[in-house]
Amino acid sequence: MAENWTIDDAEELYGVNRWGAGYFSIGANGSIQIAPNHRLPDVTIDMKDVVDEILAEGIQLPAVIRFHDILRSQVEILNETFAKTIEDAGYNARYIGVFPIKVNQMREVVEEIIDAGEPYDYGLEAGSKPELMAVLAYNENPNALTVLNGYKDEDYLTLALLGRQLRRKMIIVIEKYSELEMLIPLAKKLGVEPMIGLRSKMMVRSAGKWAGSSGDRAKFGLSITEILNIVELLKKEDMLHCAKLLHFHIGSQMSDIRKVKEAVSEGARLYAKLVQIGVPLEYLDIGGGLGIDYDGTSSTTDSSRNYSTDEYVADVVYGVKQICDLEEVPHPNLVSESGRAITAHHSCVVTNIVGEIKNTGAQFDITPTEGEHILVSNMRELVNGSDMHPQERYNDAASFKQSAYEAFKLGILSLDEMAKLDTMYWRILSEIHSSLDRESFVFQELEELEDMLASQYLCNFSIFQSAADTWAIGQVLPIVPINRLDEKPEVRCSIVDITCDSDGKLSKYIEGTEISDNIPMHSLRKGEDYHVGMFLTGAYQDVMGDMHNLFGRLTEVHIYCHDDEPGDFYIEEVVPGTSAEKVLETMQYNTDFMAKTVKKSIDREVRKGHIAPREGVKWTDYYEKCLAGSTYLKV
Ligand SMILES: *Cc1c(COP(=O)(O)O)cnc(C)c1O
Repeated sequence: MAENWTIDDAEELYGVNRWGAGYFSIGANGSIQIAPNHRLPDVTIDMKDVVDEILAEGIQLPAVIRFHDILRSQVEILNETFAKTIEDAGYNARYIGVFPIKVNQMREVVEEIIDAGEPYDYGLEAGSKPELMAVLAYNENPNALTVLNGYKDEDYLTLALLGRQLRRKMIIVIEKYSELEMLIPLAKKLGVEPMIGLRSKMMVRSAGKWAGSSGDRAKFGLSITEILNIVELLKKEDMLHCAKLLHFHIGSQMSDIRKVKEAVSEGARLYAKLVQIGVPLEYLDIGGGLGIDYDGTSSTTDSSRNYSTDEYVADVVYGVKQICDLEEVPHPNLVSESGRAITAHHSCVVTNIVGEIKNTGAQFDITPTEGEHILVSNMRELVNGSDMHPQERYNDAASFKQSAYEAFKLGILSLDEMAKLDTMYWRILSEIHSSLDRESFVFQELEELEDMLASQYLCNFSIFQSAADTWAIGQVLPIVPINRLDEKPEVRCSIVDITCDSDGKLSKYIEGTEISDNIPMHSLRKGEDYHVGMFLTGAYQDVMGDMHNLFGRLTEVHIYCHDDEPGDFYIEEVVPGTSAEKVLETMQYNTDFMAKTVKKSIDREVRKGHIAPREGVKWTDYYEKCLAGSTYLKV
């Protein structure tokens, strides 16, 4: 890296443009910039200004920041790309997409998507009863679709039929033959004609983390035999005209465009064959799976994708058209259920680094003392051994350290001697490391050195609440300092969270076009906050987190872009995070009882004279204030 650090070097390192999808970049002032509206690429918001305003309003970090304009932009881009491609291709039907709310069920997110999608009759998808109840209340557009997936009971089906009574296009996607056996008598009893979808179990195997969503052993969907049996049953019941949609979903985050093409061929062929035998299908629903380039590598790694949205849409439109034309069937309306692609970019978590954990930090006086153990003097020779071969010096140090450990267990070494050995050991490792060029690492052990010497930056958040997929499935999420990007980051570190769980850490970082075990960040300055952003958290991460260690939901700040406002933005809403008392209540604690009990104990000590009465009142108030407060560190 260049001696004179510039923002180009920062870009090279953190890859903001590569994963930023045009929304995120590094400004000349060294701060992250956001251009949230795809129609106004020159209107940019400075992330540092946003954080400063949040802090000025007295809001504590960590916080989720939502850029509603990004959400709107993504809805517009997807719908307009389909519309344009359909026009260019001479495709004879329309695109009518739905947003699967499981990806982010936050009311404000769903409302914004519905509002932005209105001109395109963009609808919603639900996969459970509570989701269905939400979409019944929020998707009121009679021209938009409501697609209902997931396993269903009688209540689920009845609620769907209620939607039909309200003249909504509710499509009940049949996952199992038995659902249809339940639906037919119910619909007849209520006198409501259902719109039926059929979910096909696809033969194409997707790759990556969600490969199980397709293939013979997939959890969802109907085999060809089952589909034909369903067609027979519908015919017999005189309901074949209700079969409107063919659905498939081969898995989320499809990283390889070839799988998309294969799935489209299979699905379109099945659609055509069903139409030919008289099933009056009007819609072909290609499910979700449109990927996000989280790691910025544009590759087929699990956290990336090797195609653009334009390419995806073209493959769908032209792929379906070609097969329908060959089979001489009408072009179906195209439905997709992209969730990740709509929401991932719009939110991020901003937090602060609250401390540094260093192996090399503690120092002990290592001057020789009379009668010290031979292991100590051996190690001291290595401290002065800069002329040794680095590998040999490293091997010797590691071996002395191991022997010292054995000796300590046998009671041979004193505490002082152990502290000396430890200090010298880390000093030697640091010296070896700094004498080496990063590019010329030859020995694997020496590569490990970097990992051993990396600091741990203690970050005020919980992986389990805010980045569940990094822990559960090794997903990469970009993490970048909010500002100081015009300064060379000199500290190699990994990010650990504040839960008491050793799994509570990020283990994969974007470093250039590679994925590293640690990442360079800036050194912490006394008395100055160091803010980092974890980006692309809007899909799944926002809503899937749990309360491990009782860390609750984060405070949310909703930002709108407005070029008349200073800084081109304003805070539209602040949704407070879960207080300690709310989190405790979900675990069945009665916080009133807790406060009373603690107060009683304090009063007892006051009566005994151990605590002054005035102090007692203060302690009582303080406990109550903490119950009402945030679950995260206040810094
Ligand atoms: C999860 C899911 C989706 C959303 O997938 P994305 O990859 O987020 O677009 C769509 N349809 C179904 C049936 C799903 O289960």
